[in-house]
Amino acid sequence: MFSNTAIGIDLGTANLLIYTKNKGIVFNEPSVVAIDTHTGKVLAVGNEAKEMIGKTPHNIQSIRPLKDGVIADYEITSQMLSTMLKKVSKKLGVSLRKPNVIVCAPTGSTSVERRAIDNAIREYGAKQVHIIEEPVAAAIGAGLPVEEPVSNMVVDIGGGTSEVAIISFGGVVSAKSIRTGGDHMDSAIIQHVRKKYNVLIGERTAENVKMEIGYALVDHDPLTMEVRGRDLVTGLPKTIELNSQEIQDALRESLEAILEAIRDTLENCPPELSGDIVDHGIMLTGGGALLKGMQEWLSNEIDVPVHIAENPIECVAVGTGKSLSIIHKLQKAAK
Ligand code: ADP
Ligand code: MG
Repeated sequence: MFSNTAIGIDLGTANLLIYTKNKGIVFNEPSVVAIDTHTGKVLAVGNEAKEMIGKTPHNIQSIRPLKDGVIADYEITSQMLSTMLKKVSKKLGVSLRKPNVIVCAPTGSTSVERRAIDNAIREYGAKQVHIIEEPVAAAIGAGLPVEEPVSNMVVDIGGGTSEVAIISFGGVVSAKSIRTGGDHMDSAIIQHVRKKYNVLIGERTAENVKMEIGYALVDHDPLTMEVRGRDLVTGLPKTIELNSQEIQDALRESLEAILEAIRDTLENCPPELSGDIVDHGIMLTGGGALLKGMQEWLSNEIDVPVHIAENPIECVAVGTGKSLSIIHKLQKAAK
């Protein structure tokens, strides 16, 4: 049914990735759109649009249409998708018209939202659209043996949400999704800086701070970083120095929410499957898995081994693209 024109899309809240069977990941850019608010026209998508966040004049707005783990704006999401698909087909010099698309919707999304994604992709010209479960895609992309009769646990820490899922025989047995992910960590950093220094920093700066000096809750040699923001008292630009300990404190609440979701899922794991999980441990995927000290911290907190996928940000897209042959195999085996 699916020829080489099959493409996989990870419609993430932070990043949108496109995978083709022959070329692997061909697109990996932020899920951001810059819109002219007067005309409603899309001015830029992806990296170019993210560069504009917090810097644009009033008539241009940089929007993250999937911001809190759901599709906040269907119209803009579909415009973003088709602009990105066009960009990719131009870059590759091949037409991606009438592709068969396998797409991963955010797990928390409703059936209405899933239909919206389906429509957006069909509008672009896709012949067939399949929506698959995101944790299954993450597991496949991380190289877990989902076709085998062993269960696996995947923890995907994305921008808007974190998903914890137990997968067995290629399907989700139990899952938990919380609206705490990388964005929440960035906001916590903004709030901390505002409260302690009376300085307002932007979203991009906060994200950089997290990536440079952010740590999960482990002991570490302290790091510092200079950032610039606006002094809320004088209204003037100000440079301050942040250290990794205060940032770690700011991240504590988000990290504890993620840990609680993992503990809940482990505790509610069907007894027949818990042996596998204890033996094989959990696999971390998503950009949040890259936070410094994440693996060490989680290993300290839970009694099962913790692994980080090789390319945590690419797992879902790779898994989406590879899922079809695996699903077919499973369906055949079930017959
Ligand atoms: P989504 O699936 O929601 O699009 P991703 O899996 O692409 O999300 O992950 C994006 C999130 O990962 C962002 O919040 C980003 O800031 C965060 N992230 C990326 N790299 C790092 C890093 N090195 N340390 C901490 N967080 C990171
Ligand atoms: Mg994701």
